[in-house]
Amino acid sequence: MPQIKLKVVRDAVSPPPWSAPSGAGPLFTGNGDTDYVCGVCEFVIAAHMGAGQRVASIETECPCCGAVNEVSIGTD
Ligand SMILES: [Zn+2]
Repeated sequence: MPQIKLKVVRDAVSPPPWSAPSGAGPLFTGNGDTDYVCGVCEFVIAAHMGAGQRVASIETECPCCGAVNEVSIGTD
């Protein structure tokens, strides 16, 4: 399963080691096979995104390390 790192627009706010909060899961889930992960800690932010699926360009804070990632999927 391919894994793509998202672009970090604000660095992590908490120091490593990072651990995902219990119950934290992907913010987006699709039906493909590409995972988009936090550019800092590799927490999965958008899971199983498929070709043709789109997530408009948004900025989202990683629940794990606090970095802000720019999520822009399928907009190329
Ligand atoms: Zn993170």
